[in-house]
Amino acid sequence: MKRKILYIEDNDQNYYLVSFILNAQGHTVTRARDGREGIDLATREHPDLILLDIQLPVMDGYATARELRRIPGVAATPIVALTSYAMAGDREKALEAGCTGYIEKPINPKTFTEQIKNYFPAGEATGGGG
Ligand code: MN
Repeated sequence: MKRKILYIEDNDQNYYLVSFILNAQGHTVTRARDGREGIDLATREHPDLILLDIQLPVMDGYATARELRRIPGVAATPIVALTSYAMAGDREKALEAGCTGYIEKPINPKTFTEQIKNYFPAGEATGGGG
């Protein structure tokens, strides 16, 4: 099933890699380059899932997650933090800020598709395939 994904990411390389993988699966990816823009887009577009970088300009990923959770219609949307492998504390902080889960960066293109599937809203998966 095709999903609408919002990816809040300031780094071009990360964005291109992840959006390439997701587009290849048929998903639509919208980009925000900072937390404020991400909050605006989430409010307007109600994505199925939000991918959230932690190290962002303007406001960091934790602050962004906390604000996203206050938006009606986004409060229950899965938010997956992309956390640095080296920064173990990022994960706990991301969950505390309201993220549903996290995926370590650098992402592994071979496993990313499977990892992300775990976070799509329940009850809409088409199952099988792939
Ligand atoms: Mn970043």
